[in-house]
Amino acid sequence: MTKPPVARLECLKCKYFDYRMSAREVGELVPGECPQCGEDMKVAARELPKRLAEPLALVAKHFKISDFVTSKDRIKFEVAAPNSKRSFRSLLDDSKQKGYLPVMRGREGELRLIMMKYPRVSKGNIAVNLLLLGATFLTTFVAGYYWIFDGKTLYAALFSGTIMLMLGTHELGHKIAAWRNGVESTLPYFIPAPTMLGTLGAVIRIKSPIPTKEALVELGASGPLFGFLVALPLTAVGLMLSKPEIPPVGDSLPFFPAIFVMLQLLTFGHVPASMTINPLAFAGWVMLLVTMFNLLPAGQLDGGHVARGVMSRERHYGLTRALGLSLLLFGLFFPQLPLWIFGLLILLLFRGYHTGALDDVSKLSKRQKSLAAVTFIVFLLCLPIPSG
Ligand SMILES: [Zn+2]
Ligand SMILES: [Zn+2]
Repeated sequence: MTKPPVARLECLKCKYFDYRMSAREVGELVPGECPQCGEDMKVAARELPKRLAEPLALVAKHFKISDFVTSKDRIKFEVAAPNSKRSFRSLLDDSKQKGYLPVMRGREGELRLIMMKYPRVSKGNIAVNLLLLGATFLTTFVAGYYWIFDGKTLYAALFSGTIMLMLGTHELGHKIAAWRNGVESTLPYFIPAPTMLGTLGAVIRIKSPIPTKEALVELGASGPLFGFLVALPLTAVGLMLSKPEIPPVGDSLPFFPAIFVMLQLLTFGHVPASMTINPLAFAGWVMLLVTMFNLLPAGQLDGGHVARGVMSRERHYGLTRALGLSLLLFGLFFPQLPLWIFGLLILLLFRGYHTGALDDVSKLSKRQKSLAAVTFIVFLLCLPIPSG
C-alpha cells in the first residue's frame, strides 16, 4: 500500500509536538490544534522518524490507513480492511516479532488501531508457587484430619491428594489454553486456607495480552471444564464408597451442588439425610463448589473471561455489578447458601472494566460460542441447592 503523507506538527506556545497524517507543507499554520494547550501549531517537517516508521509500515501492510496521530508512547490509527479479523491476526503476528503490540477497538465499519511497544513480560518466582503448593497440601490435610475425617490419617491424605489433583487439572486446563493461544502465564498459585475446606482453589496469572475473543473464551472455559471433567468420575466413585446412615447421624452438609444431588440419586436412589462420606466424594463436593464460584460470569473470574468474550465491556460491567448485588440480596433469603459471600467478593474485587482482547471488534466464532454455552451449563450444574 502507498505511504500516507506525514507532517511533524509543533505547538507555537508549549513544547508539544506530534506526527500526523497530513498533506500540509512545511511552515503551514494549523490554528488551535495543540492537544495540550489548544494553541496554534506549525508544520515543522514532513518526515517520520525511524522509530515511528516501522510500526506505521506494519499497519500499512495489513490495513488501509485513513488517519493517524502519534502521542508519547503510541500511535493511533483510523483504518479499514475488508476482513479486519484476519488482517488483525496477521498484524499481530508481524508486530510481535518486531516488538510492537497492536490493539483494535471500535465498531464494525469504523476501526481504530493503537500501536505501542510490546510490554515486557516479567517472570514469576517459582519458589512462591512451590511454597504455596506445599502449604495447600498441608492445610487440606489438616482440614481433612481435624474437621471432616476425625483423626483418620489415610482419609485426610486421600482428601488432600484428591482435591489437589482436581485443582491441578483445573489449572492445567488454563495452561493448555494459554499455550494454544500464545499467551504467557505463570505456574499455578494454590491458595491455602485455614478453614474446613483447606483451600480456596488456585489461580494462574496471565502475563501477556490476550489476542482475540476466542482466546479469551478458551482461557476462561478450559480450567473449569477440565476440573469438572475430572471431579465428576472421582465424585461418583467417592459416593459409591460412601454409606448413607439410617437413622441419620450428625449434620448433613448444608448444601449440595446440583450435579452432586444427581450423582447421589444415581448412587443411592435418594438423597440420604446423612452419610459417612468418602474422602473422594468430599473432595468432589469442594471442587464442584470451587468450579461454580470460578464460573460466575463476573469480573476477572474464569466465567467473567468467558462472558467478556461474548459481550461488550459496558454490558460485562453491568452484569458483574448486577450479579454481585443479586447474590448479596439472595443471602437475605437463603443465608445457608454461601452465595452472598461471593456476591460481596464480586462487588469488592471487580470495580473496573474488563479490558478484553486486543481485537475487541471482530465477532466471536461459532466454535467458541458453543464452548461458552457449554461452560454456562456446567455453571448451572454446579449451583448449590440447600439440603434437607
Ligand atoms: Zn501547546
Ligand atoms: Zn480457573
